[in-house]
Amino acid sequence: MSVTVDLTREPLSDGFRRPITYLRVSVTDKCNLRCVYCMPELGLPWLPRDDILTYEEIHAVVRAAASVGVRSIRLTGGEPLVRRDLHRLVAAVASVPGIDDVALSTNGLLLEEQLPALVAAGLHRLNVSLDTLRPDRFEAIARRPGLERVMRGIDAALALGLHPLKLNCVVMRGSNDDEVVAFAELTRDRAVFVRFIEVMPVLENLEMHAGTYVSSNEILERVASHAALKPAPGPPGNGPARYFAFDGARGAVGVISPLSHDYCERCNRVRLTADGRLRLCLFGDYAVDLRGPLRAGASTEDLAGLLRASMLIKPERHHLRLGEASSRMRAFSEIGG
Ligand code: SAM
Ligand code: SF4
Repeated sequence: MSVTVDLTREPLSDGFRRPITYLRVSVTDKCNLRCVYCMPELGLPWLPRDDILTYEEIHAVVRAAASVGVRSIRLTGGEPLVRRDLHRLVAAVASVPGIDDVALSTNGLLLEEQLPALVAAGLHRLNVSLDTLRPDRFEAIARRPGLERVMRGIDAALALGLHPLKLNCVVMRGSNDDEVVAFAELTRDRAVFVRFIEVMPVLENLEMHAGTYVSSNEILERVASHAALKPAPGPPGNGPARYFAFDGARGAVGVISPLSHDYCERCNRVRLTADGRLRLCLFGDYAVDLRGPLRAGASTEDLAGLLRASMLIKPERHHLRLGEASSRMRAFSEIGG
C-alpha cells in the first residue's frame, strides 16, 4: 500500500515552542545483558509478546511522525539487536518519505554479525555502549561476558566507515571511573566520539546511585588533567552532549549530564515504548497510548492527530535531582543511547 505524506504540513512542536523532530523507538524491552545501573540481575517482568508493537505497527507510527515533521529515528530498547530481523524494520523506516536519519543504539554484542544487513537496509549511524575496556570489569558491570564481541562489533563499524560512531560510557565511582583517561585516549587515532554519561537514578539502581554518581565536570577535569582538552564541534545529530578534544585527535570526548546540566530547553524528542506508548519525557508518567488506536484501525492522519494532541502534555523539563528516584516503573533511561 502506498501512502502519500504531505511534508509541507505544519511541523510538530510542543507547548514550549520546541520543534519535535526526533523519535526514539524502543523495539523490545528484553536484553542480553544486565547492566547494574539499568536492569535487575534476573531481568524484568518482560512484556507479553502480544503487547509489543509489530514492525508494521512501528512503521505506521513512523509514517505518521514523518508526516508532522519528525526527521530522525533511533532504534533502541532493551537491546534492539535481540529482536529478530531488525534489518527489516530498518529498511521499512529508512524508506519512509521525510525520514533522513536512521540510527541504532546497541550494546554491541550482536553487532558484528548483523551490521552488514543493517547497513544494507539503510542504517546511517550507531551508538555502542561500552563502560569498560577490561574483560573482568565488563562481566561485573554487564553481569554477562562479552567484551571481545563488543570490540569486534566496534571494529566492524569502523571498518565499514560508519560515521559518526559514538561510544557511550556510563561512569560510576569505584567501578570504571579510573578508565576515563583510557577511554578518552581512544579518540586520538580513531574517528570516534566517546561520550561519558552521568549515571541516572532509576528504580533498578537506587541503592547504588548516590555512591557511584560522578558529575560530568569531574569527568572532564580528570581527562583534562591528563592532557589539555579544547571545546570541539560534536557530530551532526540530535545529541545532548557537550564535546571536547585533545589537540590533533581524530575523534572527541563528550559529556552527557542529565543531572548536573540538563538540556530540557533544547529537547526535540519523544519516545515510542515497545508496547506502543508515546512517552513525552524521559522521566515522569507523561505518555499517550498509540497501540489501542493502531489496533482499532487508526489511519496515518489519525495517528498524526494523536501525535499533535500529545504535545499538550509534554512537560517543560524533567525534575530529576541527585538523590531522587525516577517515577519510571521500568528501566530504559535511553538518554545517550
Ligand atoms: N541496550 C542498548 C545499549 O545499551 O546501548 C540500548 C538501550 S540502553 C537503555 C541506552 C543507553 O542508556 C545506554 O548507553 C546505556 O548505557 C544508558 N543507560 C541505561 N541506564 C542508565 C542509567 N541509569 N544512567 C545513565 N545511562 C543509562
Ligand atoms: Fe541492556 Fe542496554 Fe540496559 Fe545494558 S544498558 S542492561 S545493554 S538495555
